[in-house]
Amino acid sequence: MLILGIETSCDETGVALYDTEHGLLAHALFSQIDMHADYGGVVPELASRDHVRKLLPMCDQVLERAGRTRGDIEGIAYTAGPGLIGALMVGGSVAHALGFALGIPVLGVHHMEGHLLAPMLEENPPAFPFVALLVSGGHTQLVRVDGIGAYEMLGESVDDAAGEAFDKAAKMLGLDYPGGPRVAALAEQGTPGRYKFPRPMTDRPGLDFSFSGLKTFTLNTVHAAQKEEGTLSDQTRADIALAFESAVVDTLMIKCRRALEQTGCDRLVIAGGVSANRRLRASLEKMAGKHDAHVFYARPEFCTDNGAMIAYAGAQRLAAGQRDGERIVAVPRWPMNALPAIDEPRSS
Ligand code: ATP
Ligand code: MG
Ligand code: FE
Repeated sequence: MLILGIETSCDETGVALYDTEHGLLAHALFSQIDMHADYGGVVPELASRDHVRKLLPMCDQVLERAGRTRGDIEGIAYTAGPGLIGALMVGGSVAHALGFALGIPVLGVHHMEGHLLAPMLEENPPAFPFVALLVSGGHTQLVRVDGIGAYEMLGESVDDAAGEAFDKAAKMLGLDYPGGPRVAALAEQGTPGRYKFPRPMTDRPGLDFSFSGLKTFTLNTVHAAQKEEGTLSDQTRADIALAFESAVVDTLMIKCRRALEQTGCDRLVIAGGVSANRRLRASLEKMAGKHDAHVFYARPEFCTDNGAMIAYAGAQRLAAGQRDGERIVAVPRWPMNALPAIDEPRSS
């Protein structure tokens, strides 16, 4: 079954073609980051309008790259939420209009299920059950996954998401958005041990997270260093970046270890933008090695928002017979454990 996947939940337009027999055929991504940079954050109306401009040309682009035509598409998956309502509506409208014109099924997909399943696009995908750490710009969650749609929430952030904390720390260090990769690059030059940051909520039982305190700790550290040095030296900025990154990575690792112990699972999947972080991957692999467990993740471009993950997640559900009614589905807030379950995925 040939599925067109459409992602427009925020500031990235993502389109992909996934075939349930032959795997991923083509994908394209356009990031609006430069457009929103002048405003210091994503402007929802500008995001929607740019999705309108980019989406159909990008659909034609992936079809051309895959050597297919619109008539070959057998189903369409689009991100139905969570996300910016106007941006979601663009993807949903295009998906439903195309589906109606072509006479093929259409399905709204959960953005976080897309992230969660992105590692399935890689070689040696994880088998069920597994523990998943979802770490993105808006979410930090530990989920037990028994199958597609069989999700048990084990823990989540009570305040900021890990990616959000990276972005805010980046701003304090004078770095641009998205902050995660920039903080990570700066931390490469950092001196281990010069600053020691807390590991929030690791001293008590449970699998919830909190990252807002780390943000305050970073700000206080920056202010104290400014008092001493005036303008921060590059070395001090790198040292703070490393201390911050190590604190986030350690905290995530400790909770993942706890989740593996608690569930008895020996497979850990990490997904979402922060799962691209090299220090996080290394730390989790080291921990998993000691527990005879394995860590799975997607290639970096499929950790952040993309169309391939939506095409994949939608393909599993469309192939199982799920589809939208006539109405476009757009849900700004949507808990992932509200999703229906399906049987084993049909992968390539
Ligand atoms: P959500 O998926 O929760 O709705 P989102 O779509 O904005 O949020 P993603 O696209 O999955 O989030 O990820 C973006 C986030 O990942 C940003 O906060 C970014 O700073 C962070 N990120 C990306 N690469 C890295 C990295 N190498 N290290 C740390 N953080 C990173
Ligand atoms: Mg984004
Ligand atoms: Fe995302």
